Amino acid sequence: MRAVERCCATARPGPANDYIASEGTVGILEGKKALIFGVANHRSIAWGIAKALHAEGCETGFTYVGEAVAKWVRPLAESVGGRFVLPCDVASDEQIAAVYAEVEKTWGRFDILIHSIAFARLEDLRAGLLHTTREGFHLAMDVSAYSLLAITRPAVPLFNEGGSILTMTYHGSTKVMPGYNVMGVAKAALEANVRYLAYELGGQGIRVNAISAGPIRTLASSAVDGFKSMLKSAAETTPLRRNVTQDEVGSSAVYLCSPWASGVTGEVLYVDAGASITGAIPPSA
Ligand code: NAD
Repeated sequence: MRAVERCCATARPGPANDYIASEGTVGILEGKKALIFGVANHRSIAWGIAKALHAEGCETGFTYVGEAVAKWVRPLAESVGGRFVLPCDVASDEQIAAVYAEVEKTWGRFDILIHSIAFARLEDLRAGLLHTTREGFHLAMDVSAYSLLAITRPAVPLFNEGGSILTMTYHGSTKVMPGYNVMGVAKAALEANVRYLAYELGGQGIRVNAISAGPIRTLASSAVDGFKSMLKSAAETTPLRRNVTQDEVGSSAVYLCSPWASGVTGEVLYVDAGASITGAIPPSA
């Protein structure tokens, strides 16, 4: 049985508390298969995406990094009938190859690739961009931006027709967000990756998009200096006067990965309660 129950799609104000699938219809992703990189725990954005894909009938398979998180990821994967849970450090070509060998063995072909991964060393994030070390810069770019290429390359020959790739970014790629520093540079590279990949893969019917999410409390976001005040000020100043939820990102991911978005590629879709359209707004406004 699906862990995320279908319920009525009535409109309601405020954030969704869970993914809402349409009642009584076949899921838009029925029969599809999604390989999901980036679930660390129940707060992960990738988990919000996994629940939403599953609610729309999509089969899932997961990767994780580090044995410490395996104990969180396994039960989550099980709750949505995940077909496999495999270790994968995206900085390792060998581990990526091992994942795809297993994907091919289990599924043969698949349809959706979710990249929800980022990493920078705390000391580099905290040092400010000017003082980021060469090694720290390379590491942040490798894990947060290059990895999209590294996991897309072996996916391409395994995609069914109409494959879809989705990555996660943040507005710190184009605007200065104090504390985001080297990660802003990595996200700028990631978004450029999305556009170039979309161009290169479009001829094969493969779409590549990104979601730029507003601040959400997760393991990764807690590393950003001043994240709590970012959350507080976003809740007061976004056009929707609140923050977005992991499940709202999940709903938008369903749209981008489904035939509803068959004409959309190379796009960065903002799921940020409208924050990106605003200029400087005093919190009391
Ligand atoms: P998270 O900590 O739950 O997810 C980050 C994931 O990256 C984890 O699963 C972690 O294990 C994985 N990861 C780190 N290094 C890795 C490596 N070498 N190999 C494989 N996996 C590795 O946090 P999250 O907020 O869900 O982050 C997911 C994505 O969303 C990231 O790209 C992040 O930048 C982006 N994002 C987050 C926010 C936010 O406010 N939380 C906003 C916009 C974008």
